[in-house]
Amino acid sequence: AQLDTLDIVVLAALLLGTVAYFTKGTYWAVYGDPYGNSLATGNGAAKAGKSRNIIEKLEESDKNCVVFYGSQTGTAEDYASRLAKEGHSRFGLNTMVADLEDYDYDNLDKFPEDKLAVFVLATYGEGEPTDNAVEFYEFMGSEDITFSEGGTMDDKPLSNLKYVAFGLGNNTYEHYNSMVRNVDKYLTKLGATRLGAAGEGDDGAGTMEEDFLAWKEPMWADVCEKMGLEEREAVYEPVFEITERDDLTAEDDVVYLGEPNKHHLEGSQKGPFNANNPYIAPIVESSELFTTPDRNCLHMEISIEDSNLSYTTGDHIAIWPTNAGKEVDRFLNVLGLDDKRHNVIAVKGLDPTAKVPFPSPTTFDAIARYHMEICAPVSRQLVSTIAQFAPDEEIKAELVKLGSEKDYFHTQVADRNLNLAQLLEISSKGEPWSKIPFSLMIEGLLKIQPRYYSISSSSYVQKDKISITAVVESAEKPGAPHILKGVTTNYLLALKQKQHGEPNPDPHGLNYAIHGPRNKYDGIHVPVHVRHSNFKLPSDPSKPIIMVGPGTGVAPFRGFLQERAAQAKAGQNVGKTVLFFGCRRRTEDYLYQHEWDKYKEALGDNFVLHTAFSREGPTKVYVQHLMEGYGEEINKLLEQKAYFYVCGDAANMAREVNTLLGKIISKYRNVSETKGEEIVKAMRASNQYQEDVW
Ligand code: FAD
Repeated sequence: AQLDTLDIVVLAALLLGTVAYFTKGTYWAVYGDPYGNSLATGNGAAKAGKSRNIIEKLEESDKNCVVFYGSQTGTAEDYASRLAKEGHSRFGLNTMVADLEDYDYDNLDKFPEDKLAVFVLATYGEGEPTDNAVEFYEFMGSEDITFSEGGTMDDKPLSNLKYVAFGLGNNTYEHYNSMVRNVDKYLTKLGATRLGAAGEGDDGAGTMEEDFLAWKEPMWADVCEKMGLEEREAVYEPVFEITERDDLTAEDDVVYLGEPNKHHLEGSQKGPFNANNPYIAPIVESSELFTTPDRNCLHMEISIEDSNLSYTTGDHIAIWPTNAGKEVDRFLNVLGLDDKRHNVIAVKGLDPTAKVPFPSPTTFDAIARYHMEICAPVSRQLVSTIAQFAPDEEIKAELVKLGSEKDYFHTQVADRNLNLAQLLEISSKGEPWSKIPFSLMIEGLLKIQPRYYSISSSSYVQKDKISITAVVESAEKPGAPHILKGVTTNYLLALKQKQHGEPNPDPHGLNYAIHGPRNKYDGIHVPVHVRHSNFKLPSDPSKPIIMVGPGTGVAPFRGFLQERAAQAKAGQNVGKTVLFFGCRRRTEDYLYQHEWDKYKEALGDNFVLHTAFSREGPTKVYVQHLMEGYGEEINKLLEQKAYFYVCGDAANMAREVNTLLGKIISKYRNVSETKGEEIVKAMRASNQYQEDVW
């Protein structure tokens, strides 16, 4: 019922001519061009020597509302930008967006009473803060918190602070939305006042965007009431100014053609390599792991030898993708930009706190190919905003309907897996949408995100070479006009084809620019960085381990086995090593089938592999079923303090394994199921139970 009301609210707003518009993936942060200094060195203001004082920053830039974000994959950052944009356009707030890691928090006790703080906080993994929110979270949650004026917890030091909060979480994880829940609790305890309800979006249920839309209307109503604001008629104001640079051509060496930052442009990539500065790594080997013609799973060996990158077994590698040429063409064509795609443009924020999410000067082609998620699902809010720029009234009416009717949008757009250009192309029957300001595209689309892969090698065995095991995404929906092709994995597939000498590496006609900007990725290179994880083998190899990893969930366990086999060969005492693996058929997708024998040779009876082939028998058998059969053995190993690991599908498998383990413990230790669950919880808390799920 709540959502129906929302629909009416949204529709009414549209009829009134109120256009909610927003910024997606836009960096509004502290100063100017991030690519000159801060980007290359790591993070924003702090490292570039800028002020970490948010109170001063608000005063200086004449803002009365700051939207902080704790973001890992860009969605929270996008929502923060959208709220900032909307706060300004609809309610006249002077807003800015701030990365949580760019500021200090001990002066929040001086936050002016007439200003508003908004917190958009994603929860990562097992209830953890996102990387950029770690310090903030630790500060707010510390027992002996002290503020600049000396105020401690009992003094209610934040009684001036008015705030709003929205969390992004996933209900398949145990600590659902724990970031926003805890921060909200801490702030309240410290005397701050929340306006409206704290919102929670659920990625697990696939309702994140709708949860966000449903939360923000009543939230704004509360903010208006408490802060005495009035809604005004919003008119689209671009955030970015796009200037044609006729004095430059794409051949000029100051023009970014997809290079992520200045070092890369100047031709000498320089470390440290991290989430802001990828290493262009050679792929030294690649192969196909499946034996069916219709599905692909790639094994790749990526060299980090000449970088300063390092990894430990269980870490993740991030791959920076390139959009498929076919989709880049579609996007530029539908916007009527095809003729201009290689013209040089300068992109600048019109407000000093707005940062351009890619380096400039550049070209439309480079932006679409390397910097924006042009293939991602479309946001309904963006569709509402775009409607006003439709080529004619009929098309406009259709877009207004899509933007305001949730169910209609779902059947026509979301359920058919359309990306923005596909939607625009279909709704205008191919006529170009040349009235859309390009600024709106920069605001409305997410900045391209690197994709993570669980490293499937051991750093003990191959410290300079990272293996990955990636299944190529391809989703065909009945009735949908296009087959959805995963951005990164199809790009990797093209790289593999090139490595194997296929003259036109072009999976499914996607047509990648695999040589990279200015051919810098030639010789089979891909931009990467490493992300360290807590998914780790016990430091003492004699401890037993149990691993559950169906499908590509086996990736890190290949690394674990490589390591334990090498340790055994080196004469170390290696404990029992049990792997539960599952796939469809032995003859199709049995990953690393022949490698397991090698590990068996090294580890002998200490390595036990249990396999489930779901499509071979009359009934489907999954790893969970196998585990039940080996319940007694599992329990015995756990009593010997075995480490228990789960990797792969978060939505179903990992959750079921978790529940099942509680039941196994209950059965074989003769305790209640509740007690069994508690034991699993305690195992998690002490890292005896570890998950690497996605
Ligand atoms: P994307 O283009 O990102 O698409 C992915 C999915 O998003 C699609 O299948 C679809 O469901 C949805 N989607 C995309 N566009 C649309 C649209 N227009 N409309 C509707 N839905 C859409 N994967 C592995 O294979 N091996 C691993 O070892 C591995 N480890 C991981 C470890 C971690 C910590 C994480 C977070 C993920 C891991 N993944 C792993 C998953 C991996 O990061 C990627 O998500 C996956 O490879 C797909 O990437 P892609 O760019 O090819 O697909």
